[in-house]
Amino acid sequence: MRVSRLMLVTLRDDPAEAEIPSHKLLLRAGYIRRVASGIYAYLPLLFRVLQKISAIVREELNATGALETLLPQLQPAELWERSGRWSGYTAGEGIMFHLSDRQGRELGLGPTHEEVITALAADLLRSYRQLPVNLYQIQTKFRDEIRPRFGLMRGREFIMKDGYSFHANEASLKECYGEMDRAYRRIFSRCGLKTVAVEADSGAIGGSASQEFMVTAEAGEDLILSSGDGRYAANQERAVSLAAEAVPLAAVPCKELETPGQSSIEALAAAHGFDPTQIVKVLLLLARCADGSLPPVLVSLRGDQRLNDVKLANAVSARLAPAQGALLSIEPLTPELVRTERLALDLAAIPFGYLGPDLSDAVFASTEATAGMGNAALSSKPQPRLITKLLRLTDPTAAQLDAFVCGGNSPDLHRVGASWAGLGLKPEVVDLRAAQPGDRCLHDPNQSLVASRGIEVGHIFQLGRKYSEALGARFTNESGTEEALWMGCYGIGVSRLAQAAVEQNHDSNGICWPVAIAPFEVIVVIANLQEPSQRQLGEELYTSLLDAGLDALLDDRDERAGVKFKDADLLGIPWRVVVGRGAKDGQVELVQRQGSLKRELATADLLAELPGLIEAGRSGLLA
Ligand code: ATP
Ligand code: MG
Repeated sequence: MRVSRLMLVTLRDDPAEAEIPSHKLLLRAGYIRRVASGIYAYLPLLFRVLQKISAIVREELNATGALETLLPQLQPAELWERSGRWSGYTAGEGIMFHLSDRQGRELGLGPTHEEVITALAADLLRSYRQLPVNLYQIQTKFRDEIRPRFGLMRGREFIMKDGYSFHANEASLKECYGEMDRAYRRIFSRCGLKTVAVEADSGAIGGSASQEFMVTAEAGEDLILSSGDGRYAANQERAVSLAAEAVPLAAVPCKELETPGQSSIEALAAAHGFDPTQIVKVLLLLARCADGSLPPVLVSLRGDQRLNDVKLANAVSARLAPAQGALLSIEPLTPELVRTERLALDLAAIPFGYLGPDLSDAVFASTEATAGMGNAALSSKPQPRLITKLLRLTDPTAAQLDAFVCGGNSPDLHRVGASWAGLGLKPEVVDLRAAQPGDRCLHDPNQSLVASRGIEVGHIFQLGRKYSEALGARFTNESGTEEALWMGCYGIGVSRLAQAAVEQNHDSNGICWPVAIAPFEVIVVIANLQEPSQRQLGEELYTSLLDAGLDALLDDRDERAGVKFKDADLLGIPWRVVVGRGAKDGQVELVQRQGSLKRELATADLLAELPGLIEAGRSGLLA
C-alpha cells in the first residue's frame, strides 16, 4: 500500500473530542473518525489492525476446536422474554437498542447472543454424544451505553468476539473454561498486550464463576484490587477483603443522644469522639423493577465502610419475586426523589440523616400503596407502585458489632449502645461493602490490597444452566434422562482491544504498535521524491519487501522528509526504512519505532535481516 493512496489525513493537534492518549492518537493518526456519539468509522488503517487481531483470535480459538459461526444481529423480543431479560435490557437504563418492524413485532439489536445461541442449541443438540461444542463469532454488537466515551473503549457499536459452549456436565464446562482461559492468555500475549486476569462480577448475564482480562493502563475505567504476592486480583465490583478491626464500644445500656445537625458519620464521630467503626450507617434506597414495583431497601453498613453498588444490585435482584421482573435500577431515596417522582410518601415521617436499622415499615405502610402519578400514567409503562415493606440488608461489618451507635429514627437523635437483639432485629447478612486499597487480604492477612486501573478486554463466564433452562435447551444424558445443557460464554472486545493496545504502547511522538497487530510492519520512506535514485531504490525495496512476505507501506508522497518521518512515528509502524542521500550507493537507514535501533546498511543486508526481525516480532509472545 502507498501512503499517497491511503486517504491519510493526520492531525497535528489533539482533537477536542478526545480525553485519553489512545483516543487522541487514533484520531490524529487517521485510524478512526467519529460519526456520532459512540459510533466510529474504522478507516482502512484501523481495519487492518482489527483484521490482524481477529486472525490471532481465530487461530487460537480454532486450535481449541471451537467453531466459527455468524448469528443474526436483529433478534426477536420473544427470545429475550423467554430468558427474562427483555425488560431489563430495554426499560430503565437498559442498553439494548430496540425497534418494531412493519408488523409491529418487537426486535432488539444484539448486545450479546446468549438467547439466540441457546435457542439454536435447543433445536440442534439432542444427545450427550454431540457434546461438548464451542461456537464463536466476530461481529458488531450494539449497546446504548449510558456513557459512551473514550472512542473505541466504550462505543455504542463495536466489534466483539463472543463464544458460547455447551456441555453435558459441570466438569466438562469447567474444563472448557480453563481452556478458554489459556487461549485468552495466548491471544492477548500474541497481540503484545500486558494483561492481568481478575475475578469478576457476573452482572446481568448471570451464572457463577467469571474472570476478566484487564489491560493495565492508567486510563482504564475499571479498578483492580490485587495482593502483592500475586495470589489475588479482582475487579473492585467483586473484590472481597478483611475489614479493619472495629474499635469496641464501651458496654453501656442503650441510651438516646441529642445530635443536632450531626447527620453524617464524620460530624457525629467528631462531635462525640466516636470511632466510625462504632457507628452503624443506615442507607435508604429505592429499587425499580420491570413490573413497576418500587421496593425500598434499607442497608446497614459499618460507619467506616462504603457500599458496593454492584454487590447491592446482585443482592436485591436475587430477592425479587419472579413477577417483579428484572431489577432496572437502585438509587438513594432522598427528599428530592420523593418530590420529583411524586412518590406518595410522608417526608416528615422519614428522618433522613438519622435513620436506624429498625426504621419502621409503617413509614411506608402509612401512605397510600401507590406512587404518585408521575409521567407514567400517560404512557403504556407499568404504573409505579411503592412496596410498603422494607428490604433490610446488613453487611457483616455491621452485623458483627455487639454494641453500636445508630440513628434514633427521629430528627437530631442517635442511640448509643444499641444492639441487634435490643432493636428486635435479626439481620439478614450479605456482603455489601466495597473492598478498598489497603484492606487486608482474606487469603493472607499480612498481604494488603493494592489498586491499579485496567481496561477490560475479555471476560469469560461459567453460565451454568440459567439460559438452557429458560429456553428449554435440553439433551439426553448417558443414562437416557433429559436434562438442561451446561453453558459457558466467552467475550473479547476486539475494537476495544485495538485501542487498549495503543493506550499501552505509545510515546510522545505517537503510536508504537506491537508488530503482531500493526497495520503495516514496515514503512519505506522516500526522503526526497524529486531525487530519481531515491525514488527508484524506494520502489524497488518496497516491492522486494512485499515479495519477502512483509506488510510494507511506501511513503511516496511529495512532502518534506520531516513531515513523512513525523507521520511514520505518529502512525506507529514498527520499522522504518529511509531511502535518502545514501540511495546512490545502495545505502538505506533502518529505524525501529520502539527502541534504540537506528543504523545505516546496504539494501542487500536489509533484505537479508529485516524479515527475520519482523518474524520474531510477529510471533513474539510476551515473556
Ligand atoms: P463493561 O463492563 O466494560 O461495560 P461488559 O462487562 O458489559 O463491559 P461483556 O458483556 O463482558 O462487557 O462483553 C465482552 C467484551 O466486550 C468486554 O470484555 C469488552 O472488552 C467489550 N465491550 C463491552 N462493552 C463494550 C463497548 N461499549 N465498547 C467496546 N467494547 C465493549
Ligand atoms: Mg464484562
